[in-house]
Amino acid sequence: MCAKITGSEPGLVYSVLTNKCPRCRQGNLFTNPNPYNFKITMRMPEHCPVCGQQYELQTGFFFGTGYVSYGLSVALIGFIFIAWTLTVGLSYKDNSIFWCLGVAAATTLLLQPVLQRLSRSIWIAFFVRYDSTFVNSTKTT
Ligand SMILES: [Zn+2]
Repeated sequence: MCAKITGSEPGLVYSVLTNKCPRCRQGNLFTNPNPYNFKITMRMPEHCPVCGQQYELQTGFFFGTGYVSYGLSVALIGFIFIAWTLTVGLSYKDNSIFWCLGVAAATTLLLQPVLQRLSRSIWIAFFVRYDSTFVNSTKTT
């Protein structure tokens, strides 16, 4: 009649924000939880350590994250501009618009590792559906 509701299913938004495997929502997408460890920021295992889901679905799969990253950056900058306008106000006369530009640019730059990881998490969540019973028996690693 309707889908079984167990109440224990990890939420989609939570699993995307915490960079979890979209198939089981338990395994980590990245080998290191710290996004500011720049040498290995984007290092991912080939397969999910919990369910075995392959992460790079095809060669160059993660090139598409550029679209997501761009959207996230524009949204962040838009949010900063709106928040700045409502709290400080924007004007070229007191240079507040330039301060806002500087803060927006610095914030976007500082958050790039987080945004890049989030972009990959969102991108793979577009293509891989949640399945609590999925086990990839063909994985080689
Ligand atoms: Zn998994």
